[in-house]
Amino acid sequence: MTALEQRIFDRIRSEGPISLAAFMAEALFDPREGFYATRDPIGAGADFVTAPEISQMFGELLGLWCVQCWRDMGAPPRLSLVELGPGRGTMMADMLRAARLDPDFIRAAHVYLVEASPALKMKQGETLDDAPCPVTWIDTLEAAPEAPALIVGNEYLDCLPVRQFLQTPDGWRERLAGLAPGEAGGETLAYVLSAAAPHPDDLAQIPDVLQDAEPGAVAEFHPAFGPLATHLAERFAQRPGRALFIDYGPADSEPGDTLQAVASHHKTEPLARPGGADLTARVDFGALARRARDAGLDVAGPIEQSAFLTALGIEHRAAALSMKQSQAGNMEERSKIARQLHRLTGEEQMGALFKAICLSAPGLPPAPGFAA
Ligand code: SAH
Repeated sequence: MTALEQRIFDRIRSEGPISLAAFMAEALFDPREGFYATRDPIGAGADFVTAPEISQMFGELLGLWCVQCWRDMGAPPRLSLVELGPGRGTMMADMLRAARLDPDFIRAAHVYLVEASPALKMKQGETLDDAPCPVTWIDTLEAAPEAPALIVGNEYLDCLPVRQFLQTPDGWRERLAGLAPGEAGGETLAYVLSAAAPHPDDLAQIPDVLQDAEPGAVAEFHPAFGPLATHLAERFAQRPGRALFIDYGPADSEPGDTLQAVASHHKTEPLARPGGADLTARVDFGALARRARDAGLDVAGPIEQSAFLTALGIEHRAAALSMKQSQAGNMEERSKIARQLHRLTGEEQMGALFKAICLSAPGLPPAPGFAA
């Protein structure tokens, strides 16, 4: 048993079963043994691959998206360009390379990276070593200075802890991580149900469409969405700004337990190896959109990643890159670009499962890429 498992066991013995959100926070971000604490899990040889690691086109298009948004905000002389969960720093590097097309944008921008993982911070530092504008690491989005802001996050929301409620004949109960008898007379982590009904404030977080679900249905929600929407609304009420999130999940709330664990590109049991596997849950874009509207933000999307990237011109970018490779006689590279384009936009690949949503200060021009 690892020291992290021992600590989780001890916590459950003293507090009783803990929420899945508390379990996720321990398993992902324990400073010594959490999944993200010590390693760089992103890439073909590691645990999972993300869009910016598939192709440079992804970050480049987002860089141009930012330049357009900055112009839509009146090209303010100072801009906080914030990335939430920047991974290996690849997307930001690609964004800045494309954004160099507008030197005024680069002069205005100060990059702020919000990253919980010490190992990934190091990697980001290497990747962004020659960034054309200042780069600063901050612990939370709230710490980004008050200035017009563009905030981006790819596969960030899916790592945020979720809670799950199960509908029973006696009403909703919370699904928790507890202990059950295991092998050889020992104990093992297992799902258990709360004895009592959840607090009314927690029940209120269940999307309306799921409130009357049949027994057996699971309602999952991200407790962080409400505070995130409130923070963005308050920030954008002072200075204009926009937040763009790209992630996997349905356009509107659906029932279901979607907590999943992935290690070395394979799914494993979420409770089986705390710290040994990435834990994510699909993003309920409908719930996020409602929270954002309630807070007073303008919401564009969610739309499918394929529609978003196509509207931003990914096919033109792919054609231009392919042309360069053909001219250089690199036919192998040419077909690689075609494969990358397909992975990002193919309906059965990432194109339909992944969605983009943009939360903006009211009154800005429509967000680029989201036209009806
Ligand atoms: N955006 C990157 C990485 C996605 S993996 C890419 O697309 O490749 C998720 C990232 O979010 C990692 O960098 C992880 O360490 C970070 N992360 C997850 N939860 C976080 C939190 N609460 N605070 C800060 N960073 C977080």
